[in-house]
Amino acid sequence: MNVYSEITSLKKRIKSFNKGITIGFVPTMGALHQGHLSLIKKAIKENDVVVVSIFVNPTQFDKKEDLENYPNTLDNDLLLLKAINCDIVFTPNAKEIYGKNEVSEDFNFDGLEFQMEGKFRKGHFNGVATIVKRLFEIVTPTNAYFGEKDFQQLQIIKKLVVKQNLNVTIIGCEIFRESDGLAMSSRNVRLSKTQRSAAPFIYKTLLKAKKIFGTKNADKVMNWVENEFKNHPILKLEYFEIADEKTLKPTKKVISGEKYRAFIAVFAGEIRLIDNISL
Ligand code: AMP
Repeated sequence: MNVYSEITSLKKRIKSFNKGITIGFVPTMGALHQGHLSLIKKAIKENDVVVVSIFVNPTQFDKKEDLENYPNTLDNDLLLLKAINCDIVFTPNAKEIYGKNEVSEDFNFDGLEFQMEGKFRKGHFNGVATIVKRLFEIVTPTNAYFGEKDFQQLQIIKKLVVKQNLNVTIIGCEIFRESDGLAMSSRNVRLSKTQRSAAPFIYKTLLKAKKIFGTKNADKVMNWVENEFKNHPILKLEYFEIADEKTLKPTKKVISGEKYRAFIAVFAGEIRLIDNISL
């Protein structure tokens, strides 16, 4: 496994590949867990060479404290990647990526960017799209893997590829969960013992919401979820939304043949957790 922190040396290596070689790419912010590894293992199965990037992208954080407290476990990440036979790891710093100009581009994603995460994390998706586009330019992947854990991000990346005519196939991967149902996340290590034992309530609520959605309309399900969290001693609901998978617009009326998903964002103290489920 080779680790590069400079763009020029990574590009040189990629240029050395024979034509026709497939490159699988998994962008991450590190603090790797089994969820990340499930994407990387899939990429290894489906491509000749796999590149994983580890870069905590400053422009996608709307809160300075969240960026400053983002876990960094680089040594362990590299051990995990080596153990599964990852080929190449790209670990640039912010200066390497942005130079002196740490700003994001402005994108138009036909409204996808204004829903849910876009409402609560200003500028987040401009930051995400800026870094993903930049990494695609550097890595020139054949296939790029993104988790459904960040379903809105996945849809936005697919839109980015279409709108900018990028030559890469985006592959969405299922959410990987702890045995108690909590969606794996780098932020989970920051949870206190009490918060960690409360957190599976999020997925349990999504499962119940899915059941209720079969019998009631979206508004009723939303009210039910809001009530479930109202008096919760540890978890604070930021939003619960039932939305069309394609447009991500809130569902008013269910149309047969369309796919819907429930999305949730919850605070455990300062730590923000998100999850979603297909309905
Ligand atoms: P992150 O390091 O949080 O930016 O995540 C890197 C990639 O891993 C993103 O495409 C995420 O959606 C994906 N990912 C993170 N957690 C999970 C999970 N629990 N299951 C599946 N994919 C995940």
